[in-house]
Amino acid sequence: MSQNAIEIKNLEKTYNPGKHNEKKALNSISLEIPTGSIFGLLGPNGAGKSTLINIMAGLVNKSGGNVSIWGFDIDKNPRQSRASIGVVPQEINFDPFFPPIESLEQQAGLYGVPKSERRSMEILEAVGLADKAYAYTRDLSGGMKRRLLMAKALVHNPPVLILDEPTAGVDVKLRKQMWDYVKELNAQGTTIVLTTHYLEEAQELCDQIAIINHGNIITNEPTQQLLDRVDSKTLIITPTKLLSKIPVFGKKINASLDENGNLIIEYPPKQIGIMEILSKVQDHKIDIKDIATQETGLEEVFLQLTENA
Ligand code: ADP
Repeated sequence: MSQNAIEIKNLEKTYNPGKHNEKKALNSISLEIPTGSIFGLLGPNGAGKSTLINIMAGLVNKSGGNVSIWGFDIDKNPRQSRASIGVVPQEINFDPFFPPIESLEQQAGLYGVPKSERRSMEILEAVGLADKAYAYTRDLSGGMKRRLLMAKALVHNPPVLILDEPTAGVDVKLRKQMWDYVKELNAQGTTIVLTTHYLEEAQELCDQIAIINHGNIITNEPTQQLLDRVDSKTLIITPTKLLSKIPVFGKKINASLDENGNLIIEYPPKQIGIMEILSKVQDHKIDIKDIATQETGLEEVFLQLTENA
C-alpha cells in the first residue's frame, strides 16, 4: 500500500448552492492521512468534521476536488473506495429486536462478503459482545451498543476505519476499553481516523492531529509537535504559610492563588527557566512546602489555534 491511506486534494463542499441557505462547509481542503496512523480530526462544532468524513465514506457528495481512499478515487472507483472504509457513526440506530449476530450478518450481506468469509462471531468476541450475540439489541447497554456499531463497521475487514465521536457520552471506564480496542486494531494494521471533542482522547490516541475550523485545516502535524508549539507550563507551589496577597513576578509570568491557597505560576519555559522562577519565589520570601508542575495539554493548543484563526 502507498504511504497514504487517504488523500484529499482541494476538497470543497457547499450545501444548498445558489439557494438562500447556501452554506460553504469545506473550503478547498487538502489532507493526507498516513497509512497505519491513528489520525485525529479535531474542531469546534460546525467546523466541517462530519461533512469531511461523510464525503470520505461516500455518504455526502462533494462540490469539488478529489478524494482517494486506499488508492481508489471516490469518483472513478466508488465501489472499491467504499469497500476500503468502515464508518462507526455517531448515532445509535438499531432494530431493537434484532440480535447482534444478525446485525453483523446483514451488514456483511450488504457489503457482499461471502458466507464462507464472514467472521461475525469473531468480531463480536473482539468487541466483547460474544455472550450477547443472540440477545435483543434493545437489551444492550449504551456502551454495548457503541461496541456493536464498531463491530458492524468491521464486517468487511476495511483497511481504514473512521470513528465519528466514538466515545461521546460513554463513561470513563468504557472509554478506556474502547481506546484499547482502537489501539489494538491499529496495531494489527488498520488505519484509524477519528473525530473527537475530547482533547484528552486525541492526545492519548492520535499520532497525528489535524485541526479544522470554519471549513479550513488550520494545522496538521504529529501530536507531540503540536503540543510542543505552546510555550507554557504551570508550576503549582504549596507555601508553608498562606499568602496574604498574590506576588508579582514580572513580565510573562502569571501568578494566581487557587482555592486551597496554592500558588499557581504560569510561565513560558522556552524563555524563562524554572530556576529563575524559583529564585523569584524566594525573593518574595515564600517558603515552599510542596511543588508540582503541570504540562500544557492539547486544550491550550486548541484554544490558541482556534482563537487566532
Ligand atoms: P462538525 O461535524 O464539525 O460539527 P459539520 O460538517 O456537521 O460540522 O457542519 C459544517 C457546516 O455545514 C455547519 O455550518 C453546518 O451547519 C453545515 N451543514 C452540515 N450539514 C448540512 C446540511 N445537510 N445542509 C446544510 N448545511 C449543513
